[in-house]
Amino acid sequence: MTVATKISEVRSAIKQWKADGLTVGLVPTMGYLHEGHGSLISTAVKQCDRVVVSVFVNPTQFAPNEDLEAYPRDFERDKALCEKLGADLVFHPEVSEMYTEDASTYVEILSDMPKQLCGKTRPIHFRGVCTVVSKLFNIVQPDKAFFGEKDAQQLAIIRKMVIDMSYGIEIVGCPIIREADGLAKSSRNTYLNAEERRAALCLSKAVKLGRELTAGGETSSEIILSQMKALIESEPLARIDYVEAVDGITMNPVEQVKSGDLIAMAVYIGKTRLIDNFTV
Ligand code: AMP
Repeated sequence: MTVATKISEVRSAIKQWKADGLTVGLVPTMGYLHEGHGSLISTAVKQCDRVVVSVFVNPTQFAPNEDLEAYPRDFERDKALCEKLGADLVFHPEVSEMYTEDASTYVEILSDMPKQLCGKTRPIHFRGVCTVVSKLFNIVQPDKAFFGEKDAQQLAIIRKMVIDMSYGIEIVGCPIIREADGLAKSSRNTYLNAEERRAALCLSKAVKLGRELTAGGETSSEIILSQMKALIESEPLARIDYVEAVDGITMNPVEQVKSGDLIAMAVYIGKTRLIDNFTV
């Protein structure tokens, strides 16, 4: 497995692979890898001849008040996991390699899509995500790119960006990987102390409740969301950012849920903001 820190190194590896007629998969990450990322990498290894994993904590998707500096990092461990899972190249650039000091071009979806859900409290987040993913697409020129359903709004936005910008890349969505007790795996779970870790279970419990309600035939967003919110609010350490039902493609709110719609939440446990969701 090669570790590349420069865009030029990635380009020359890709050029050789393409010349050899090999397909290329890309798994973009911010590192501090866990089994959620691992499942994306393993899926990519199964579906593509060569797999590139990017490990880059992207500053343009963090607002000044967010956790860019505190975001956990352990590149040695990430590298070992990528190698074990069969990745061929890990791209681990410095910020200066990805953004020149006067970088001023962004990729941004101008519909309401990035303003819904997480976009309400993170207004610049998806512009940063689209910009960096776009750059990674230009650098790696993958046949397929792999994203987790854990970040369902991000996945929907990337699918839209790929259509709008004619990227010609197949986007593969991968299911949420959870801890044994239900908590969705996240690099940010490391911020939780023991009491918060226990409290964080209210997210996956709310997902389970929502699933049961919809499986039982309930279609009223108001009824589903109010019961999910009540469950979360019964946890003293939890503070709801949002719990919403939206169309699975446009991310616009829906009053009646149907198959393919998304029920998503962001909840603060202490100072840590966690997300979870399910598709109806
Ligand atoms: P991140 O490093 O948090 O930016 O995540 C990189 C990719 O891994 C994104 O596509 C995430 O959706 C995906 N991912 C993160 N956590 C999970 C999880 N628990 N299950 C599945 N995919 C995940």
